[in-house]
Amino acid sequence: MVHSRNWIGGEWITPAPDELAVKNPSNIHEEIGVLHLSDASHIAQAEQAARAAYRSWSRLTGAARGEHLYRMAAALESASADVARLASMEMGKPITEMQGEVIRGVNLLRYYAAEGVRSNGVVIPASEPNVLQHTKKVPLGVVGVITPWNFPVAIPLWKIAPALICGNTVVWKPAENASLTATLLCEVFAAAALPPGVLNLVVGKGSRIGDALLEQISLDAVSFTGSTATGTRIAQICAKRNIKYQTEMGGKNAAVILNDADLEKTVPMIVSGAYRSAGQKCTATSRIIIESGIYDAFIEAMKKAIDGIKLAPSLDPSAYLGPVASASQYEAVMSYVKLARDQAEIVAEGRSAEANEEGYYIPPIAAAGVDPSHPLIQEEIFGPVTAMLKAADFDEAIALCNQSLYGLSASLFTRDLSYAHRFLDDAQAGMVRVNQETAGVEYQSPFGGLKLSSSHSREQGQAALDFYTELKTCAIRY
Ligand code: NAD
Repeated sequence: MVHSRNWIGGEWITPAPDELAVKNPSNIHEEIGVLHLSDASHIAQAEQAARAAYRSWSRLTGAARGEHLYRMAAALESASADVARLASMEMGKPITEMQGEVIRGVNLLRYYAAEGVRSNGVVIPASEPNVLQHTKKVPLGVVGVITPWNFPVAIPLWKIAPALICGNTVVWKPAENASLTATLLCEVFAAAALPPGVLNLVVGKGSRIGDALLEQISLDAVSFTGSTATGTRIAQICAKRNIKYQTEMGGKNAAVILNDADLEKTVPMIVSGAYRSAGQKCTATSRIIIESGIYDAFIEAMKKAIDGIKLAPSLDPSAYLGPVASASQYEAVMSYVKLARDQAEIVAEGRSAEANEEGYYIPPIAAAGVDPSHPLIQEEIFGPVTAMLKAADFDEAIALCNQSLYGLSASLFTRDLSYAHRFLDDAQAGMVRVNQETAGVEYQSPFGGLKLSSSHSREQGQAALDFYTELKTCAIRY
C-alpha cells in the first residue's frame, strides 16, 4: 500500500487527517494506496522552503545544477520499472505506454541538464567605445507547477527540469489521482541528493489548495497544464497579481484524410492518435475529416482496425487500450457515448472488455452523421470516442478543421506536397503534422497550442528556457 506524502524542505510530511483510498482503475476492487490531502498551511510551508533554497540554488553554476539533473535522470532510469508500474496502476495507462513516458522523463532531465553549460545571452555591439553590452537570462524565483494526471511523469518533468536548470526552485502540486506517482518520483529525486527545498511536493485537491497556491502566497511564476476551465481561471488570477504564467489546456484535434492518402499507413496512425491512452491525451485525434472519394474505404479500414484493438487491464503488456482513469472520467466519457448512440451513427465500435465490471473500461467508438456544430465535434471528450465528418475537397476539409475553439494539434494525410504545405500554413494549431498522428512532439521541440488550447507560450525545447527566465540587458563602461 503506497501513501502519498508531501516533500517540503527535504522533509517527508504526511498531511493529516483527511485521507482517500486510491483504487486501481483496471480493477476498482483493488486498493493500491492512500491519498492524504493537504491544506493551505502545507502550501505556505512549501513556499517558505522553496524561498529559503532559492538563494543557494540560483547561485550555483549552471554546470553544477546540471550535475544534479544528471543524477536525477540516472536515478529515474534505475527506478523506471517501479515508476511505470505504479503510474499505470494509479491512472490506467497501458504499461508499455507508461514505460515510454518514463524514458521520456529521463530524456527531458538529460536534455535540460546539458542546458546548464550552454550560452546564456548574447553580446550586443555598443555604439560607444569601451562599453560592453550584453544580455543574460536570470531565474524568476519560486515557480508553482500544477500538473494533470494524464501524463503523470512527462508533464511534471517538462516543467520541473527547465525550471530547475534555470535556477528557480519549485512548489509542485500534481493532480490528486497522480499523487502516488508524484510521491514516488520525489522519493527517487531525494535519493539522488537533490538539495532540500529545491523541489517541494504538495499533494491534494486543486479545489481545496488551489486558492492558497495562487492567491495566498507569492509565487514568481506559474506553469499549469490541465483543463481549459481551470487554466482560464488560473490565468485570470495570475494576470491580476502580475505573475508570469503559462497555461496549457484542452484540445479537439483534427486528422484530415485526403483522397490520395495511403490507407494502409494512415489507419494505424489514426487509431493510435485516437485511442492510445484511452483517448485521454490533450493531443488525441478527436475529429476525423475525410475527403469524400476515400470515405467508404476509410470507414471499412477503421472498422477492421477498431475490431482488432485489445482492451485489457493496464499492466497486461499486450493491452492496446486500458481503462479510463477514474469514476468521474468514466461518467463524463459515457455521457458522450450515450450522445453518440442517441444522435449519431456508430460506424465502428470495439468489443467490450472481458473485465468490464471490474474497471472503468470503455471500448473504442467512432461516430458519424452529425453536423459540424454538434457537441461530439466541438467539445473535448477526453476518451476513446471519435467523430467523423465528410468533406467535398481540401478547402472544405481545412475549413472544418479550423472550425474549433481549440488549436493544439492537427494532422493531414496525403501524398501531395502542395496540400501538405498549404495545411502547415493554414491549419490553426500549434503543432501541425503531415502523415503523422496528432500527438505531442519530441522533447527537444516546442509544445503548445493556439486559441483556447494555450496561453501562447511554449513548453519543452529551448522555448521553456524563455518561460523560466527573465531577460536582463547589461552594460559596463570600462
Ligand atoms: P484539471 O484542470 O481538472 O486539473 C489540472 C490540475 O489543476 C490538477 O493538478 C488539479 O488539482 C489542479 N486544479 C484544479 N482546480 C484548481 C484550482 N482551482 N486552482 C489551482 N489548481 C487547480 O485537468 P485534468 O482533468 O487533471 O487534466 C485533463 C485536462 O488537461 C484535459 O482538458 C486535457 O486536454 C488537458 N491537458 C492539456 C495538455 C496540454 O499540454 N495542452 C496536456 C495534458 C492534459
